[in-house]
Amino acid sequence: MIFIAGKCYHTDEPGGRVEARLQEGTIAKVCVLASSSSGNCTFIGTDRTRILVDAGLSRKEIALRLASIGEALEGLDAVLITHEHSDHVSGLPVLARALRIPVYITRLAAGTLAWPAGFTPKLEIFQAGCGFAIGDLRIQSFTVPHDAIDPVGFCVDADGVRIGVVMDLGYIPESVKYHVRGARLLVLEANHDVEMLKVGPYPWAVKQRVMGRRGHLSNDVVSEFILEELDGGTRTLVLGHLSEHNNHPEIVRLVADQALRRRALATRLVVAEPRRLSEVFQC
Ligand SMILES: [Zn+2]
Ligand SMILES: [Zn+2]
Repeated sequence: MIFIAGKCYHTDEPGGRVEARLQEGTIAKVCVLASSSSGNCTFIGTDRTRILVDAGLSRKEIALRLASIGEALEGLDAVLITHEHSDHVSGLPVLARALRIPVYITRLAAGTLAWPAGFTPKLEIFQAGCGFAIGDLRIQSFTVPHDAIDPVGFCVDADGVRIGVVMDLGYIPESVKYHVRGARLLVLEANHDVEMLKVGPYPWAVKQRVMGRRGHLSNDVVSEFILEELDGGTRTLVLGHLSEHNNHPEIVRLVADQALRRRALATRLVVAEPRRLSEVFQC
């Protein structure tokens, strides 16, 4: 089902909106600006439309990181929100007030947010599971199992190129596997190593929450997904939202690489390290 809730945001504004930003032959530019329990934010842009998925960094930090990849805050057309946890929305109120761009969010998640006094955000409410359009991007949302009020993941389609962003989920339901099938670039959570989590510093209740069906994905679950489900057409798999206490980029790399080798897939593996922005992916 496609529910058109978006509007077209054209490129005829000042600020160099139409400069050549993409390498020849590519349709979309993607950068994971941040991905960890201290902040999540992913940039996806075509020549016409630029969005963020989540705004879990300060406005200033998002501006700096965008500038480092040749983009600007003022060039953004919209922000999509996966769920209301602070590592995904901490920068949203200030960002939305500064830019006055639409915020795509579910009604339940929107109801949890506090906005600056006197400011009315431009909310574009969508129902989890529905699709909508923003400029030349078609977005499909889908429910993910996580301990937030109405959490979602997104697939973004740009002229036939699909980009999946799936963070914060306790397991990978069939519906999520269905939606990310065919993604050319998939950003997926690889939150923790189960053994590190068990002996790590978190209180037992938090450990149970993280390991639970509405918690976060372990390296083992990601490995299983690669072995059994990853689409052979996925050219790049970006693993992110690594716990800084209960995981290590080298462990993620090792586990995922082993699974990819067993499948004999040519998929390129990238581990998004906590507190660093990723390379720029040209899709
Ligand atoms: Zn998170
Ligand atoms: Zn969360």
